[in-house]
Amino acid sequence: MNKLKEIILVKNGELALKGLNRRNFEETLAKNIQKAAAPCGGVNVWRAQSTMYVTPLDSGADIEDIVSCISRVFGIAALSRAAEVEKSMDVILPSACTYLKDDLENARTFKVNAKRADKKFPLKSPEICAMAGEYILKQFPHLTVDVYSPDVTVTIEIRDTAAYLHKQPIRGAGGLPVGTGGRACVMISGGIDSPVASWMMAKRGLALSAVNFASPPYTSRRAEDKVRDLLRKVARWSGEIRLHIVPFTEIQEAIRDNCPEDMLTLIMRRYMIKIAQAIACEDGAQALVSGESVGQVASQTLGALVCTDAAANMPILRPVIGMDKEEIVEIARRIDTFEISILPFEDCCTVFTPKHPKTKPSLDKILLAETALENERICVADMIERALVNTAVEIIRSE
Ligand code: ATP
Ligand code: MG
Repeated sequence: MNKLKEIILVKNGELALKGLNRRNFEETLAKNIQKAAAPCGGVNVWRAQSTMYVTPLDSGADIEDIVSCISRVFGIAALSRAAEVEKSMDVILPSACTYLKDDLENARTFKVNAKRADKKFPLKSPEICAMAGEYILKQFPHLTVDVYSPDVTVTIEIRDTAAYLHKQPIRGAGGLPVGTGGRACVMISGGIDSPVASWMMAKRGLALSAVNFASPPYTSRRAEDKVRDLLRKVARWSGEIRLHIVPFTEIQEAIRDNCPEDMLTLIMRRYMIKIAQAIACEDGAQALVSGESVGQVASQTLGALVCTDAAANMPILRPVIGMDKEEIVEIARRIDTFEISILPFEDCCTVFTPKHPKTKPSLDKILLAETALENERICVADMIERALVNTAVEIIRSE
Protein backbone atom coordinates (compact mmCIF):
# COMPACT_ATOMS: atom_id res chain seq x y z
CA MET A 1 0.00 0.00 0.00
CA ASN A 2 1.16 3.54 -0.77
CA LYS A 3 2.21 5.75 2.10
CA LEU A 4 -0.93 7.29 3.60
CA LYS A 5 -1.37 11.04 3.55
CA GLU A 6 -1.19 12.25 7.13
CA ILE A 7 -2.53 15.31 8.89
CA ILE A 8 -2.67 16.39 12.55
CA LEU A 9 -5.90 16.93 14.46
CA VAL A 10 -5.85 19.46 17.26
CA LYS A 11 -8.35 19.76 20.10
CA ASN A 12 -8.67 23.12 21.78
CA GLY A 13 -8.43 23.25 25.54
CA GLU A 14 -10.16 25.87 27.60
CA LEU A 15 -11.18 27.69 24.44
CA ALA A 16 -14.56 26.07 24.55
CA LEU A 17 -15.28 28.06 27.69
CA LYS A 18 -14.62 31.46 26.24
CA GLY A 19 -17.97 32.28 24.62
CA LEU A 20 -17.75 35.45 22.58
CA ASN A 21 -13.97 35.52 22.56
CA ARG A 22 -13.78 32.07 21.11
CA ARG A 23 -13.29 33.17 17.51
CA ASN A 24 -10.39 35.43 18.41
CA PHE A 25 -8.84 32.64 20.47
CA GLU A 26 -9.14 30.13 17.65
CA GLU A 27 -7.70 32.50 15.10
CA THR A 28 -4.73 33.24 17.35
CA LEU A 29 -4.24 29.55 18.01
CA ALA A 30 -4.30 28.81 14.27
CA LYS A 31 -1.67 31.53 13.66
CA ASN A 32 0.50 30.24 16.51
CA ILE A 33 0.33 26.71 15.11
CA GLN A 34 1.40 28.02 11.70
CA LYS A 35 4.34 29.91 13.19
CA ALA A 36 5.44 26.94 15.27
CA ALA A 37 5.35 24.63 12.26
CA ALA A 38 7.15 27.04 9.90
CA PRO A 39 10.60 25.44 10.48
CA CYS A 40 9.17 22.07 9.33
CA GLY A 41 7.97 23.39 5.98
CA GLY A 42 4.77 25.09 7.13
CA VAL A 43 1.16 23.95 7.53
CA ASN A 44 -2.37 24.91 6.58
CA VAL A 45 -4.88 25.07 9.42
CA TRP A 46 -8.62 24.81 9.02
CA ARG A 47 -11.32 24.51 11.62
CA ALA A 48 -14.49 22.48 11.90
CA GLN A 49 -16.48 22.36 15.12
CA SER A 50 -14.05 22.02 17.99
CA THR A 51 -11.26 20.44 15.92
CA MET A 52 -8.45 22.03 13.93
CA TYR A 53 -7.06 20.19 10.94
CA VAL A 54 -3.38 20.80 10.40
CA THR A 55 -2.07 19.80 6.97
CA PRO A 56 1.63 19.93 6.01
CA LEU A 57 2.31 22.21 3.03
CA ASP A 58 5.21 20.03 2.02
CA SER A 59 4.01 16.49 1.34
CA GLY A 60 7.49 15.17 2.17
CA ALA A 61 7.54 16.82 5.62
CA ASP A 62 8.18 14.62 8.66
CA ILE A 63 4.85 14.55 10.48
CA GLU A 64 6.52 13.63 13.79
CA ASP A 65 8.64 16.80 13.60
CA ILE A 66 5.51 18.87 13.08
CA VAL A 67 3.78 17.13 15.99
CA SER A 68 6.78 17.88 18.18
CA CYS A 69 6.77 21.60 17.21
CA ILE A 70 3.08 22.11 17.77
CA SER A 71 2.97 20.09 20.98
CA ARG A 72 4.54 23.23 22.53
CA VAL A 73 1.77 25.54 21.34
CA PHE A 74 -0.34 26.72 24.27
CA GLY A 75 -4.10 26.39 23.88
CA ILE A 76 -3.91 22.80 22.62
CA ALA A 77 -5.49 20.21 24.92
CA ALA A 78 -4.74 17.17 22.76
CA LEU A 79 -3.46 16.31 19.32
CA SER A 80 -3.34 13.22 17.19
CA ARG A 81 -1.98 12.18 13.85
CA ALA A 82 -4.57 11.00 11.35
CA ALA A 83 -4.48 9.42 7.90
CA GLU A 84 -6.63 10.95 5.17
CA VAL A 85 -8.21 8.30 2.96
CA GLU A 86 -10.89 7.92 0.32
CA LYS A 87 -14.45 7.80 1.66
CA SER A 88 -15.18 4.19 0.87
CA MET A 89 -15.32 1.29 3.32
CA ASP A 90 -13.20 -0.75 0.89
CA VAL A 91 -10.37 1.71 1.47
CA ILE A 92 -11.13 2.71 5.06
CA LEU A 93 -11.04 -0.80 6.55
CA PRO A 94 -7.67 -2.04 5.24
CA SER A 95 -6.16 1.41 5.73
CA ALA A 96 -7.23 1.45 9.38
CA CYS A 97 -5.55 -1.92 9.95
CA THR A 98 -2.33 -0.78 8.27
CA TYR A 99 -2.21 2.66 9.83
CA LEU A 100 -2.95 1.46 13.38
CA LYS A 101 -1.09 -1.85 13.04
CA ASP A 102 1.43 -1.22 15.84
CA ASP A 103 -1.20 0.04 18.27
CA LEU A 104 -3.55 -2.86 17.54
CA GLU A 105 -0.82 -5.49 17.73
CA ASN A 106 0.25 -4.26 21.16
CA ALA A 107 -3.27 -3.91 22.57
CA ARG A 108 -5.51 -6.46 24.22
CA THR A 109 -8.78 -4.60 23.81
CA PHE A 110 -10.15 -2.03 21.37
CA LYS A 111 -13.26 -0.24 20.27
CA VAL A 112 -14.30 1.62 17.14
CA ASN A 113 -15.59 5.15 17.36
CA ALA A 114 -17.26 6.47 14.22
CA LYS A 115 -18.06 10.13 13.56
CA ARG A 116 -20.14 10.94 10.53
CA ALA A 117 -20.11 14.66 9.68
CA ASP A 118 -21.06 13.86 6.08
CA LYS A 119 -24.69 12.85 6.48
CA LYS A 120 -24.81 11.62 2.87
CA PHE A 121 -22.37 8.80 3.59
CA PRO A 122 -24.39 5.59 3.01
CA LEU A 123 -23.56 3.95 6.39
CA LYS A 124 -24.64 5.38 9.73
CA SER A 125 -22.16 5.59 12.60
CA PRO A 126 -23.27 2.35 14.39
CA GLU A 127 -23.03 0.50 11.07
CA ILE A 128 -19.51 1.81 10.46
CA CYS A 129 -18.54 0.69 13.98
CA ALA A 130 -19.98 -2.78 13.54
CA MET A 131 -18.39 -3.32 10.13
CA ALA A 132 -14.99 -1.99 11.19
CA GLY A 133 -15.06 -3.92 14.48
CA GLU A 134 -15.70 -7.17 12.67
CA TYR A 135 -13.00 -6.48 10.07
CA ILE A 136 -10.37 -5.59 12.70
CA LEU A 137 -11.19 -8.69 14.78
CA LYS A 138 -10.53 -10.84 11.70
CA GLN A 139 -7.16 -9.18 11.09
CA PHE A 140 -6.09 -9.16 14.76
CA PRO A 141 -7.75 -12.21 16.30
CA HIS A 142 -5.98 -11.75 19.67
CA LEU A 143 -8.11 -8.63 20.35
CA THR A 144 -11.41 -8.35 22.17
CA VAL A 145 -13.85 -5.46 22.14
CA ASP A 146 -14.12 -3.29 25.25
CA VAL A 147 -16.35 -0.28 24.78
CA TYR A 148 -15.71 1.16 28.27
CA SER A 149 -11.95 1.33 28.66
CA PRO A 150 -10.25 -0.07 25.58
CA ASP A 151 -6.46 -0.07 25.17
CA VAL A 152 -6.92 1.38 21.68
CA THR A 153 -9.74 3.41 20.16
CA VAL A 154 -10.00 3.29 16.39
CA THR A 155 -11.65 6.55 15.40
CA ILE A 156 -13.07 6.75 11.89
CA GLU A 157 -14.28 10.18 10.90
CA ILE A 158 -16.26 10.73 7.73
CA ARG A 159 -16.15 14.34 6.54
CA ASP A 160 -17.40 15.92 3.30
CA THR A 161 -14.01 15.80 1.63
CA ALA A 162 -12.43 12.60 2.93
CA ALA A 163 -12.34 10.04 5.72
CA TYR A 164 -9.85 10.29 8.58
CA LEU A 165 -8.37 7.52 10.68
CA HIS A 166 -7.08 8.83 13.99
CA LYS A 167 -4.04 7.60 15.91
CA GLN A 168 -4.21 7.69 19.72
CA PRO A 169 -4.34 11.28 21.01
CA ILE A 170 -1.41 12.73 22.94
CA ARG A 171 -1.58 15.53 25.50
CA GLY A 172 -1.01 19.06 24.24
CA ALA A 173 0.68 21.92 26.08
CA GLY A 174 -2.59 23.09 27.66
CA GLY A 175 -3.11 26.70 28.70
CA LEU A 176 -4.30 29.49 26.42
CA PRO A 177 -2.93 30.70 23.06
CA VAL A 178 -0.07 33.18 23.48
CA GLY A 179 -1.26 36.68 22.61
CA THR A 180 -4.87 36.25 23.71
CA GLY A 181 -4.17 37.62 27.18
CA GLY A 182 -2.16 40.74 26.29
CA ARG A 183 1.53 41.28 27.01
CA ALA A 184 3.70 41.18 30.13
CA CYS A 185 7.33 42.10 30.64
CA VAL A 186 9.43 39.48 32.40
CA MET A 187 12.29 40.44 34.68
CA ILE A 188 14.70 37.75 33.61
CA SER A 189 17.85 36.84 35.50
CA GLY A 190 20.11 33.93 34.77
CA GLY A 191 18.57 31.91 37.61
CA ILE A 192 16.19 28.98 37.74
CA ASP A 193 13.02 30.81 38.73
CA SER A 194 12.47 33.61 36.23
CA PRO A 195 12.53 31.41 33.07
CA VAL A 196 9.96 29.16 34.75
CA ALA A 197 7.85 32.21 35.67
CA SER A 198 8.07 33.38 32.03
CA TRP A 199 6.90 30.01 30.75
CA MET A 200 4.02 29.91 33.22
CA MET A 201 2.68 33.31 32.14
CA ALA A 202 3.06 32.48 28.44
CA LYS A 203 1.02 29.37 29.21
CA ARG A 204 -1.80 31.63 30.38
CA GLY A 205 -1.86 33.36 27.00
CA LEU A 206 0.47 36.32 27.61
CA ALA A 207 2.92 37.46 24.95
CA LEU A 208 6.33 38.23 26.48
CA SER A 209 8.83 41.03 26.53
CA ALA A 210 11.84 40.68 28.80
CA VAL A 211 14.21 42.95 30.66
CA ASN A 212 17.59 42.00 32.05
CA PHE A 213 19.80 44.22 34.20
CA ALA A 214 23.49 43.87 33.47
CA SER A 215 26.27 45.42 35.53
CA PRO A 216 29.51 45.15 33.56
CA PRO A 217 32.31 44.72 34.49
CA TYR A 218 30.86 43.05 37.62
CA THR A 219 28.75 40.85 35.36
CA SER A 220 30.16 39.38 32.17
CA ARG A 221 29.12 39.06 28.56
CA ARG A 222 28.65 35.37 29.27
CA ALA A 223 25.95 36.17 31.84
CA GLU A 224 24.05 38.07 29.12
CA ASP A 225 24.45 35.17 26.70
CA LYS A 226 23.07 32.88 29.37
CA VAL A 227 19.92 35.01 29.53
CA ARG A 228 19.63 34.81 25.73
CA ASP A 229 20.02 31.03 25.83
CA LEU A 230 17.32 30.76 28.51
CA LEU A 231 14.91 32.95 26.57
CA ARG A 232 15.54 30.94 23.40
CA LYS A 233 14.26 27.90 25.31
CA VAL A 234 11.22 29.81 26.60
CA ALA A 235 10.54 31.14 23.08
CA ARG A 236 9.96 27.57 21.88
CA TRP A 237 6.68 27.87 23.79
CA SER A 238 6.00 31.61 23.91
CA GLY A 239 7.05 32.65 20.42
CA GLU A 240 9.49 35.52 19.95
CA ILE A 241 10.48 37.68 22.92
CA ARG A 242 11.70 41.30 22.80
CA LEU A 243 14.69 41.42 25.14
CA HIS A 244 15.91 44.70 26.65
CA ILE A 245 19.33 44.65 28.30
CA VAL A 246 19.69 47.57 30.70
CA PRO A 247 23.14 48.84 31.74
CA PHE A 248 22.71 49.04 35.53
CA THR A 249 26.26 49.51 36.83
CA GLU A 250 26.11 53.25 37.43
CA ILE A 251 22.90 53.01 39.47
CA GLN A 252 24.11 49.99 41.42
CA GLU A 253 27.36 51.75 42.32
CA ALA A 254 25.48 54.87 43.41
CA ILE A 255 23.26 52.74 45.66
CA ARG A 256 26.28 50.88 47.06
CA ASP A 257 28.13 54.12 47.82
CA ASN A 258 25.24 56.09 49.28
CA CYS A 259 22.69 53.77 50.93
CA PRO A 260 22.74 51.79 54.19
CA GLU A 261 24.25 48.38 53.51
CA ASP A 262 21.38 46.31 54.89
CA MET A 263 18.94 47.95 52.46
CA LEU A 264 21.09 47.67 49.31
CA THR A 265 19.28 44.75 47.72
CA LEU A 266 15.79 46.12 48.24
CA ILE A 267 16.65 49.60 47.03
CA MET A 268 18.30 48.09 43.98
CA ARG A 269 15.23 45.95 43.31
CA ARG A 270 12.95 48.98 43.58
CA TYR A 271 14.98 50.82 40.93
CA MET A 272 14.85 47.72 38.76
CA ILE A 273 11.06 47.79 39.01
CA LYS A 274 10.89 51.49 38.10
CA ILE A 275 13.05 50.97 35.02
CA ALA A 276 11.34 47.72 34.01
CA GLN A 277 7.93 49.31 34.07
CA ALA A 278 9.04 52.19 31.88
CA ILE A 279 10.25 49.59 29.36
CA ALA A 280 7.08 47.53 29.79
CA CYS A 281 4.92 50.57 28.97
CA GLU A 282 6.92 51.25 25.81
CA ASP A 283 6.41 47.65 24.73
CA GLY A 284 2.66 47.75 25.39
CA ALA A 285 2.95 45.39 28.38
CA GLN A 286 0.42 45.77 31.19
CA ALA A 287 2.27 43.90 33.93
CA LEU A 288 5.71 42.78 35.08
CA VAL A 289 6.57 39.14 35.79
CA SER A 290 9.14 38.05 38.34
CA GLY A 291 10.42 34.72 39.60
CA GLU A 292 10.02 35.51 43.29
CA SER A 293 8.79 32.90 45.77
CA VAL A 294 7.80 33.84 49.32
CA GLY A 295 10.57 33.30 51.81
CA GLN A 296 13.15 31.99 49.32
CA VAL A 297 15.71 34.68 50.21
CA ALA A 298 15.76 37.84 52.37
CA SER A 299 14.54 40.02 49.51
CA GLN A 300 11.53 37.74 49.08
CA THR A 301 10.01 37.76 52.56
CA LEU A 302 6.48 39.11 52.59
CA GLY A 303 7.73 42.35 54.14
CA ALA A 304 10.37 42.71 51.42
CA LEU A 305 7.82 42.07 48.68
CA VAL A 306 5.62 44.81 50.14
CA CYS A 307 8.55 47.25 49.81
CA THR A 308 9.25 46.08 46.24
CA ASP A 309 5.59 46.42 45.24
CA ALA A 310 5.44 49.96 46.60
CA ALA A 311 7.84 50.99 43.80
CA ALA A 312 5.48 49.64 41.14
CA ASN A 313 2.43 51.15 39.57
CA MET A 314 1.58 48.14 37.47
CA PRO A 315 0.87 44.60 38.72
CA ILE A 316 3.87 42.34 39.32
CA LEU A 317 2.85 38.79 38.43
CA ARG A 318 4.70 36.16 40.44
CA PRO A 319 3.52 32.77 39.23
CA VAL A 320 6.01 30.77 41.34
CA ILE A 321 5.19 32.70 44.51
CA GLY A 322 3.82 29.66 46.39
CA MET A 323 6.08 27.00 44.92
CA ASP A 324 8.93 25.15 46.60
CA LYS A 325 12.29 25.15 44.84
CA GLU A 326 11.85 21.47 43.88
CA GLU A 327 8.56 22.24 42.19
CA ILE A 328 10.16 25.07 40.23
CA VAL A 329 13.10 22.84 39.28
CA GLU A 330 10.69 20.19 38.01
CA ILE A 331 9.27 22.67 35.49
CA ALA A 332 12.74 24.02 34.66
CA ARG A 333 13.80 20.50 33.70
CA ARG A 334 10.67 19.96 31.66
CA ILE A 335 11.21 23.14 29.63
CA ASP A 336 14.93 22.42 29.38
CA THR A 337 16.17 25.59 31.10
CA PHE A 338 17.58 23.96 34.23
CA GLU A 339 20.99 22.96 32.87
CA ILE A 340 21.54 26.48 31.53
CA SER A 341 20.33 28.14 34.74
CA ILE A 342 22.83 26.31 36.91
CA LEU A 343 25.85 27.51 34.91
CA PRO A 344 27.82 29.64 37.35
CA PHE A 345 27.74 33.14 35.82
CA GLU A 346 27.15 36.02 38.22
CA ASP A 347 23.94 38.03 38.14
CA CYS A 348 23.77 41.72 39.03
CA CYS A 349 21.70 40.74 42.09
CA THR A 350 24.62 38.77 43.47
CA VAL A 351 27.17 41.59 43.28
CA PHE A 352 27.22 43.99 46.25
CA THR A 353 24.97 41.72 48.34
CA PRO A 354 24.80 42.84 51.97
CA LYS A 355 26.11 40.42 54.62
CA HIS A 356 23.04 40.92 56.78
CA PRO A 357 20.08 41.94 54.63
CA LYS A 358 16.93 43.00 56.45
CA THR A 359 14.20 40.35 56.44
CA LYS A 360 11.73 42.78 58.03
CA PRO A 361 12.51 45.98 56.17
CA SER A 362 10.81 49.29 56.88
CA LEU A 363 9.42 51.01 53.82
CA ASP A 364 9.72 54.39 55.55
CA LYS A 365 13.46 53.91 56.09
CA ILE A 366 13.90 52.74 52.52
CA LEU A 367 12.06 55.79 51.19
CA LEU A 368 14.26 58.03 53.36
CA ALA A 369 17.40 56.38 51.99
CA GLU A 370 16.13 56.80 48.44
CA THR A 371 15.32 60.46 49.03
CA ALA A 372 18.84 61.00 50.32
CA LEU A 373 20.20 59.24 47.22
CA GLU A 374 18.05 61.30 44.91
CA ASN A 375 19.32 64.47 46.57
CA GLU A 376 22.93 63.54 45.87
CA ARG A 377 24.97 65.61 43.46
CA ILE A 378 24.79 62.80 40.93
CA CYS A 379 21.08 62.79 40.18
CA VAL A 380 19.50 59.29 40.07
CA ALA A 381 16.76 60.46 37.70
CA ASP A 382 19.49 61.24 35.15
CA MET A 383 21.05 57.85 35.74
CA ILE A 384 17.73 56.15 35.08
CA GLU A 385 17.33 58.20 31.93
CA ARG A 386 20.84 57.20 30.79
CA ALA A 387 20.15 53.54 31.55
CA LEU A 388 16.97 53.68 29.45
CA VAL A 389 18.67 55.46 26.56
CA ASN A 390 21.53 52.95 26.54
CA THR A 391 19.29 49.90 26.80
CA ALA A 392 19.94 47.46 23.95
CA VAL A 393 16.95 45.76 22.36
CA GLU A 394 16.91 42.52 20.41
CA ILE A 395 14.39 39.90 19.35
CA ILE A 396 14.92 36.42 20.73
CA ARG A 397 13.50 33.57 18.68
CA SER A 398 13.31 29.89 19.52
CA GLU A 399 16.46 27.96 18.71
P1 ATP B 1 16.12 33.50 39.68
O1 ATP B 1 16.39 32.09 39.97
O2 ATP B 1 15.10 33.70 38.62
O3 ATP B 1 17.38 34.29 39.41
P2 ATP B 1 16.29 34.15 42.45
O4 ATP B 1 15.63 33.24 43.35
O5 ATP B 1 17.74 34.02 42.22
O6 ATP B 1 15.52 34.10 41.03
P3 ATP B 1 16.63 36.96 42.93
O7 ATP B 1 17.99 36.97 42.35
O8 ATP B 1 16.40 37.57 44.26
O9 ATP B 1 15.93 35.56 43.00
O10 ATP B 1 15.65 37.66 41.96
C1 ATP B 1 14.27 37.60 42.09
C2 ATP B 1 13.65 37.95 40.78
O11 ATP B 1 14.07 39.25 40.37
C3 ATP B 1 14.09 37.05 39.65
O12 ATP B 1 13.32 35.87 39.59
C4 ATP B 1 13.87 37.93 38.47
O13 ATP B 1 12.50 37.99 38.10
C5 ATP B 1 14.27 39.29 38.99
N1 ATP B 1 15.72 39.55 38.72
C6 ATP B 1 16.77 39.24 39.46
N2 ATP B 1 17.93 39.62 38.88
C7 ATP B 1 17.58 40.19 37.72
C8 ATP B 1 18.30 40.79 36.65
N3 ATP B 1 19.63 40.84 36.62
N4 ATP B 1 17.61 41.28 35.60
C9 ATP B 1 16.25 41.21 35.58
N5 ATP B 1 15.54 40.67 36.56
C10 ATP B 1 16.16 40.15 37.61
MG1 MG C 1 18.69 35.34 40.50
